[in-house]
Amino acid sequence: NVHERRVLITGGAGFIGSGLVRYLLGCAEVAVLNVDKLTYAGSLRSLASVESSPRYQFLRADVCDQEAIGSAFEKFQPTVVMHLAAESHVDRSIDGPAAFIETNVVGTYSMLQCALEYWRKLGDDRQERFRFHHISTDEVFGSLGPEGRFVEATPYEPRSPYSASKASSDHLVRSWFHTYGLPALITNCSNNYGPFQFPEKLIPLVLLNAMDRKPLPIYGEGDNVRDWLYVEDHVQALWKVIEKGEPGRTYNIGGNMERTNLEVVRTLCRLLDERRPHPSGAYEGLIEFVADRPGHDKRYAIDATRIKEELGWEPAETFESGVEKTIDWYLANEAWWRPIREGAYSGQRLGLSNPG
Ligand code: NAD
Repeated sequence: NVHERRVLITGGAGFIGSGLVRYLLGCAEVAVLNVDKLTYAGSLRSLASVESSPRYQFLRADVCDQEAIGSAFEKFQPTVVMHLAAESHVDRSIDGPAAFIETNVVGTYSMLQCALEYWRKLGDDRQERFRFHHISTDEVFGSLGPEGRFVEATPYEPRSPYSASKASSDHLVRSWFHTYGLPALITNCSNNYGPFQFPEKLIPLVLLNAMDRKPLPIYGEGDNVRDWLYVEDHVQALWKVIEKGEPGRTYNIGGNMERTNLEVVRTLCRLLDERRPHPSGAYEGLIEFVADRPGHDKRYAIDATRIKEELGWEPAETFESGVEKTIDWYLANEAWWRPIREGAYSGQRLGLSNPG
C-alpha cells in the first residue's frame, strides 16, 4: 500500500513516545514498530490500550545496538523514523552523565548510520518520501534572561549534561542531512506534561507527593520559568512535521504558556484542593524550598511562529486546561503510578526537574 506509513519509533514506551504510539494507532494507514530498551523510564503498561492492534509491533532493543537496529530496519521497512529514545532527566544527568552520552549521543549516531544504510538501498521514490525525525528539546539553546524567546536560529548554548548530549545529537542529525543527504528533520520542544509521565518530573512529582502528604520541593526561590506544553499537543505537532515538514529544517514547538515553577506548583495545589480537599489543610502548606540545582537555567521560552505559519500547528490546550486533564488522569490511574512510586523509583528523591 503506497499510502501506508510504516513508522519506526524509538522510545515508544516512554512518556511522549507512548503518547505518539497511541495517537498514530488511532490514525488509519499507519503501522508502528516501537523499539525500546525499557529502562527505568519505559513501561509497556503505558501501551496497554494499543498492544493488541494488528498494526503494532514491539522490539526490545538498545538504540546503540547497530546489529539489532539494522535488522529491524530490514524487516520492518519503515517509511518514517521518529527517534525519541533518550535519557531525559536533567537531575540524573548531573549525577551520572555516562548513560546520557551513550544513549543520546552514541545512540543517535547509531540510529543515523542504520537509517542511512537502509535509505541508500531504497528506490528513488521511497528515498524521497523517507523521513528521519529527531525529537529534541529547547534546552539546547541554554538559558534566557527576562526577555526574548528561542527561535530556530538561536545559537546552541547547552549548560547541563542532558542538554549538551541532546545538542550533540542535534548536530549529528543536521550533519547527516548536509553530508549524506539523509532526509532528516529536527524539532525542539519545551517542557511537556500530561498522562503517563514518569513521577520524577515536576508536575507528576508534585501531584503525587501532595496526594501522599509529602513535601513539595521547589528549587531555589521557585522563580525559574518554563514554557509548558500538553503532551498530546506535542504529539500532533510531531506528526504535522512528518506530513508537511521540509527535510533539513528545524521546527520549534512550544505552548506559549510560560510559568514560574512556583506558579506551576500553586496551580496544582489549588486544583487539587478543589478536587480532593484534605482535612488537614490546603496543599500549598506542603511546599518546601530546597537548595537550587547546579547550573539551573533561569528561563526557557519558545517562539513557535515557524511551525504555526508553515505547517499550521497550534496547541489546543492552555496550561490550565491541560493541567486539569492531567490531574484527573493521575487521580483516576493510581494503578499505573503507584507501583512506580513504590518500586524501582522510590519517590524519595527531592529533585525538581525541568523534564527533557
Ligand atoms: P522518557 O524518559 O519518558 O522516555 C524515554 C524512553 O526511551 C523510555 O521508554 C526508555 O526505555 C527509552 N530508552 C532509553 N534509553 C534507550 C536506549 N538506549 N535504547 C532504546 N530505548 C531507550 O522521555 P520523554 O520525556 O518521553 O522524552 C522523549 C524524547 O523527547 C527525548 O528524546 C527527550 O529528549 C525529548 N523531549 C522531552 C521533553 C519533555 O518535556 N519530556 C521535551 C522536549 C523533548
